[in-house]
Parts: sequence; structure tokens; C-alpha cells
Amino acid sequence: MKLFDVYPLFDISIVKASGSSLWDANGKKYLDLYGGHAVISIGHSHPHYIEKIKQQLDQIGFYSNSVKILPQEELAAKLGELSGYKDYQLFLCNSGAEANENAIKLASFQTGRKNVIAFTKSFHGRTSMAVAATDDKSIVAPVNETGNIQFLPFNDEQLLEKSINKEVCAVIIEGIQGVGGVNIPTPSFLKKMEKLCKENGALLILDEVQSGYGRSGRFFAHQHAGIKPDLITVAKGMGNGFPVGAVLISPEIRSKHSMLGTTFGGNYLACAAAIAVLDVIKQENLIDHAMQTGNKWMNDLRKIKQVKEVRGQGLMIGLELSFPAAEIRKKLLTEHRIFTGASGKNVIRLLPSLAVQQNEIERFTDAFEKVLSKVEVKI
Ligand code: PLP
Repeated sequence: MKLFDVYPLFDISIVKASGSSLWDANGKKYLDLYGGHAVISIGHSHPHYIEKIKQQLDQIGFYSNSVKILPQEELAAKLGELSGYKDYQLFLCNSGAEANENAIKLASFQTGRKNVIAFTKSFHGRTSMAVAATDDKSIVAPVNETGNIQFLPFNDEQLLEKSINKEVCAVIIEGIQGVGGVNIPTPSFLKKMEKLCKENGALLILDEVQSGYGRSGRFFAHQHAGIKPDLITVAKGMGNGFPVGAVLISPEIRSKHSMLGTTFGGNYLACAAAIAVLDVIKQENLIDHAMQTGNKWMNDLRKIKQVKEVRGQGLMIGLELSFPAAEIRKKLLTEHRIFTGASGKNVIRLLPSLAVQQNEIERFTDAFEKVLSKVEVKI
């Protein structure tokens, strides 16, 4: 059987990983500054993480038959404490897309409405909101275009005020837009959104799948704006590579049996991975580390004259060039063995482990300057 070819792939096979380092099948070492789309939060193969998963696997990996799964309760308690959302409720699932679908479903149950407001350049997974991350309409299934989803321009308070009404069940926004180019909602936009949602009886959903789990220098990016959403979705960094996602649900939303459901969500192994991630984030103070290293790094990157704009918060960084980034990323990989990400044509995305070290950051900045100096003639 052949693999269904939906991803452009580098001809590299990774066989080993540790911290921010990767090794290919030929023993070549690479620096990973992308972490598989922001998934690697505490670093590859962290010893505590491996130990926790192994211990759990020795006991039980998966079981689901209407029994209490104790690690789910430990996970909920630790997540509540570290995120500052102790009074919220937790629904566990397997991915960011699933978390967002469930959040929309909850908002619709809660309000009895079906219209949703999202924003241009947003990305909420391959869900019913899966438009807008791309200009390539050929990959947006017609079914996604027929829903009651309205896409508004980002950071436009007036238009939001005009568009929201008592038929809207939810407004969904990313803590920081990732796939759409690392765009940060202004605190004033988020505050206005929170107020308008309350006035209109709509729920506010913060998609923190990419920007959450400490990446922005706060547990959630929206905490920089001091707002409190009704629903928060997480995945990616939550499991450091183990597939796990969740919805954090306001205490005002009452649960009902069979309202939501999942086969694999919250299984023993997923919980062990997610608990280990929270332990390491706390023990190693990775949220402060993300804030400090990220801010310093962005200041250094702003000094590079070929970079049009540096956008980001903590370790979620976008470097906008005034020319296509593909060649630069290719050279970083082939000449300097550094993995980066992209967004659209001109933006390089940096989403390293939250434990990335200063010498690794300097290695990137140095390599980036070298590569840019060679393409200067093309600008
Ligand atoms: N939401 C955001 C903000 C994302 O960046 C992504 C993935 O890139 C998703 C949701 C979808 O997550 P998943 O791929 O786990 O379904």
C-alpha cells in the first residue's frame, strides 16, 4: 500500500531525538526549532516524560469501560493549578481539531444557536472552521463553506461589534494566530470581544492549541490580555508528541451525560504523558524561560536588516521577510541542519522546545545571518 501523498516532505528520516536535537538515519545531527508544529514543549525524549510513560505502560496503557481513570483526575488538578483555571472543568480528547469541534458543539448546546464568528487567517484544524489558513481554495472542502461561519478581519473591533448578534453561539479566536503568520490579537480587541460575547449571550472560545502551554510566556497567550474565555482548547504541546487534546470548560457550563464523547480521549498513556509535561514545565520553570529567552531572541532578530518584521510572544516567533522564505529555510536545513517552519510565502516560524538553550538560539541567529547575507542580491 502507498501512503496518501498530502504533505510535501524533506528526504530525511529522523531516527533519534533528545532535547532540541534530532539525528537522521545516517547519524547526522540537526537542531529542531519547529518541534513538529509546536508540539515539542519540554524537549524531545525528556527523561521524566519517558519514565512516566514507561511506568504507565508497565501497568496499563489503554482501557475504557465506564470506569474511573485516576490519572485523568491528577491531570485535571495539575492543569487547573498551573494554568490558573482551577475552577474550570476538563474534557479530554485526542487532537486540536477534535477539541475545537467539541468546543463549538458545547457552545451550540449551551446557547441553542448555530452561528459562529471566526477570523481571517485563522486556523482551527481540519474542522468546520478549516477555511482561511490558506489561499488555496482547492483544499477547502465545499462542506466547510456552507456552515454558518462568518470570517471577520482580525483586530477590527467595530466590525465585530456590528456582526455579533443574539444568533451567534460562539466567537472563536487563536491566542496567537500560528498558521496564518504569527499574528497577535490586541488586548483591546480581546477585551472588547469578551464584553460583546457577554452582552450577546455568545460564548468566547480561545483556541490555545498552538499558543498555549507556556509557549507565549504565560500559560495561555490570552492571559497577557487579562480576559477569561468560556472555553479554551489545547493539544500540541500538551502531550509533547503524545496525541492528546482537551477543552477547558467554564464552571457556568453544566455537563450532561452523553453530551460529548470519545473512544481514546483521556486514556492512561495520554494522561501519563500530559502529567509528565506539566511536571517538567513546573519543575524547570519553562514558562518564564520561554518569556525571557523569546523576548531576548526577538530583540536580537530585530537587528537583522533583511528581516522586515519580527512578530511573536515568548517562543512563538514569526520572521517576515520581504521575499519568499522557502530558499532560506532550505539553506538553513541543508547547509546548517536547522529545522524551521513556514507560514504563507514570506514568514519563517520558530516554535522550539520551551527548554531551548541560549547556545542553540545563537547557532540559529548566526546561521540565519550567514544564509541571508548570501541572498542579499536577490532582494
Ligand atoms: N488549532 C490551532 C491553532 C492549530 O494551530 C492547529 C494545528 O496546527 C489545530 C487547531 C489543529 O490541531 P490538530 O492538528 O491536533 O488537529
